[in-house]
Amino acid sequence: MKREFVPDRLNVAEFAQAGGRLSGDQPLASFERLAAEAVESTDGLQVEWAAQGEERRDAGGRSEPWMHLEASAELPLTCQRCLTPVRTRLEADRWFRFVADEETAAALDEELEEDVLVASRDFDLLGLVEDELLMELPITPRHDVCPQDVPLSAQDPDFDSAEKERANPFAALAKLRSGKPE
Ligand SMILES: [Zn+2]
Repeated sequence: MKREFVPDRLNVAEFAQAGGRLSGDQPLASFERLAAEAVESTDGLQVEWAAQGEERRDAGGRSEPWMHLEASAELPLTCQRCLTPVRTRLEADRWFRFVADEETAAALDEELEEDVLVASRDFDLLGLVEDELLMELPITPRHDVCPQDVPLSAQDPDFDSAEKERANPFAALAKLRSGKPE
């Protein structure tokens, strides 16, 4: 009998034991916390994710559920250089190890590199997808080339100096002032 797994109420131990796989391609709008970060409409934007369960043995030979999660989305954020929206790609790719309770998770989280979560029979996998993508939000989203810079493409030899002058408006101001008669 093939088990059916439900992403928002996932039986983690069974999913790992069965080597289960779940994936989805869902509207970004259905991930409310993520959509709240968008500075433009999220119409047509999707979150893609895939989870793979795996059963491993711990040091004592007991079975332990693990899960590999991959998730990606494109989110319109504000470019910190030109302050217009920039489509920013978020990608998460991580292994999780599941343990029996919060105490064990907290103790292991400190000593191990991998992410430790508490196993449950109704684990919210979609919530984890959203958490992981939220963690990938860049602190300073930027266009590779800002739309205002179209005439000053990267091939333009003046591009770098134009960039520097913008970066330091006070230097430009000082230059103007020094040119003025007292
Ligand atoms: Zn920009």
